[in-house]
Amino acid sequence: MKYISTRGGMAPQPFSDILLEGLAPDGGLAVPETIPQVSDDTLEQWRGLSYAELAGEILGLFIDDIPQEDLRSLVAAAYNSDVFPGPRMVPVKPLKGGMSLLGLSEGPTLAFKDMAMQFLGQVFEYVLEHRGATLNILGATSGDTGSAAEYAMRGKRSVTVFMLSPQGRMSDFQRAQMYSLQDANIHNIAVEGVFDDCQDIVKTLAGDLEFKEAYRLGAVNSINWARIAAQVVYYFWGWLRATDQGGAREVSFCVPSGNFGNILAGHIAREMGLPIRRLVLATNENNVLEEFFRTGVYRPRSSAQTHATSSPSMDISKASNFERFIFDLLGREPEQVRELWKQLEENGQFDLSDLKPQFEARYGFVAGTSSHADRLATIRRVYEETGVLIDPHTADGVKVAADFVEEGVPMLVLETALPAKFAETIREAVGIEPPVPAHLAGLASLPQRVVNMACDVEQVREYIREHAPLRNSEAP
Ligand SMILES: *Cc1c(COP(=O)(O)O)cnc(C)c1O
Repeated sequence: MKYISTRGGMAPQPFSDILLEGLAPDGGLAVPETIPQVSDDTLEQWRGLSYAELAGEILGLFIDDIPQEDLRSLVAAAYNSDVFPGPRMVPVKPLKGGMSLLGLSEGPTLAFKDMAMQFLGQVFEYVLEHRGATLNILGATSGDTGSAAEYAMRGKRSVTVFMLSPQGRMSDFQRAQMYSLQDANIHNIAVEGVFDDCQDIVKTLAGDLEFKEAYRLGAVNSINWARIAAQVVYYFWGWLRATDQGGAREVSFCVPSGNFGNILAGHIAREMGLPIRRLVLATNENNVLEEFFRTGVYRPRSSAQTHATSSPSMDISKASNFERFIFDLLGREPEQVRELWKQLEENGQFDLSDLKPQFEARYGFVAGTSSHADRLATIRRVYEETGVLIDPHTADGVKVAADFVEEGVPMLVLETALPAKFAETIREAVGIEPPVPAHLAGLASLPQRVVNMACDVEQVREYIREHAPLRNSEAP
């Protein structure tokens, strides 16, 4: 299995080589040369597997330059009951109205990003140690990605993490989660600014190729293919559990979306032959993706036009993984992708309304939006009907999914976070404190370790110079 770029300008490379890179050298994204196919017989053989075993089988289809036995050890270390203490690791929790939640948030940071990051932590360390190499991960977070990355990389010998976060812009819980980590290889930097300022600093430093080389800077952002591949696993898991009793054959999934990473994994699973009926994309007030699936026009917004909402992890107006879906939609023609992204740069949008009939008929995609009022009403209704408390992002999914439930087709809504992470909105909706899982009970009172910094790229550069143990010997 080799990987190519959506823009056609990269010689085919094995998994381990694209693992540590961000964008392909031609500015595109790495995708598998062909999508592996899974037969109905194989699906049935997978029914009895544990989550880790299933992950080994599926990731093995995408990764053939790591011996299968080693891969099995990596997934066993990523997916076990110490890391994901919930029942069955990824539980399915029934709601009313033909829907269930797919419980992806039982991991250390209570958001679905742990599912992919825990594997990434294992496979990064494995590949780096085999190459005798080291990496300094530089990232920016608005909350969920940073903590998932830090919990996955903490204590790893070959990796050091520098994570920028916006001062005073995260929930108390998110801050406590990140800043309470005392591991020497984790550096939290709180920047006086907003998320976009942090992101700009990262882009400047990663764009300084000399600095990037010298300090071996790497990323773990949502375009990382290993994250997408690890997310494919839970679509298979969800399908298997929803069809365990017989009866249904097709299953629909609804995905609260921002960067299009989570639902892209659903698209890949469907292309592999998993009988997915619909992929329902849910957005909040930032509805760039919903607009695309409704009209065929993709029109990203500026950060000034991006609303700050009560489902903040979906406050994204430029979906970094979207290009991978467009590549497939255009029949995997890199020339056409290049042309479209040129139009995007020149006009701020592109128009694929010609292809609109294919969105649902060929790819199963439909979409809807949810507002603050919808979120509150949905959290309240689900709580009253079932006693289950859902977080604001998952509520966006439940709200949108309701319009697409069909008789005889189970609808799985991906639970992208637990309510404990977003207590303020839960209080507003139902007037109670969301429960905090036992392993995080004392979090708020732990000492915190964070460096405050002005919004100044040179200060961050200096900090990395001083604190990166891992650098090339000739580093300036
Ligand atoms: C990251 C995140 C999302 C959005 O996922 P994408 O892969 O960016 O589409 C939704 N909900 C929560 C809680 C998240 O942390």
